[in-house]
Amino acid sequence: MVYIEKIKESVELIKKSSYIVAFTGAGISTESGIPDFRSTEGIWKKFRIVSYQEFLSDKNARIEFWKMAKELVKTILNAKPNEAHKALAEFEKMGILKYVITQNIDNLHQLAGSKNVIELHGNYKKLICLNCGKRYSVNDVLQKLENNEFDLRCDECKGIIKPEVVFFGEPLPEIELTLANKIATKCDLMFVIGSSLQVEPAASIPRLAYYKGAKLIFINKSSTEWDFMAKITFYEKASKVLKNILDESKN
Ligand code: NAD
Repeated sequence: MVYIEKIKESVELIKKSSYIVAFTGAGISTESGIPDFRSTEGIWKKFRIVSYQEFLSDKNARIEFWKMAKELVKTILNAKPNEAHKALAEFEKMGILKYVITQNIDNLHQLAGSKNVIELHGNYKKLICLNCGKRYSVNDVLQKLENNEFDLRCDECKGIIKPEVVFFGEPLPEIELTLANKIATKCDLMFVIGSSLQVEPAASIPRLAYYKGAKLIFINKSSTEWDFMAKITFYEKASKVLKNILDESKN
């Protein structure tokens, strides 16, 4: 199918569907200047992933993590939603899209105007002391990082400060995961955007939708091992495709 036919077919699927949701990953935010994990410019090419267990038990691993976070947080703070985030927000406003289920921590869906956002991996803006529960803002922490303070401890009790984002090896927030699974079971059309679908258990959500009978539209720059599930597959930039689908749906 040529590109324009895929756009028209996507709009047909939207018209035939009654419960439409989007599942997004790091790829939707690369055009906002935030690198994803696995592309050539990805974060993993520069930094090692620090697991939850290492973060809890090893001061050097925490320091390594905060050096990576310093760079990432500054990038995210400067990022603005792109056309892909905006299109999803507009679909929600038009009453077409019920939820965005995101693996991203960058808050860009909310900044674009999406209201029903389920964050499976947390949000970079929230931080907490693991000992006393004192909350910190990203700006509090950034100030310390700018002063090259990388062993971040609570002002009150010297406990470890952790961002409320899900680390590798850490369980996903139960409420969000349960809701996402419910929605995946219920939806009849799911857009899967900018995710390599390699991070579990988040990646199981599109699979659940598929096995429960929903139609899937994949928008990714490169292929994934789960492309066979898609009714329509775009190997394109998310901003271009979603803008084109939005415009076509208004015709
Ligand atoms: P991933 O890095 O594994 O895969 C990104 C996918 O997006 C790839 O398939 C790539 O081809 C595609 N892509 C890149 N740019 C694109 C574009 N402009 N348009 C369409 N597709 C594009 O990402 P993932 O599956 O989300 O897994 C990474 C994990 O890391 C997630 O769990 C997420 O929590 C976290 N993460 C989040 C952010 C963020 O919040 N922005 C950034 C990096 C990583």
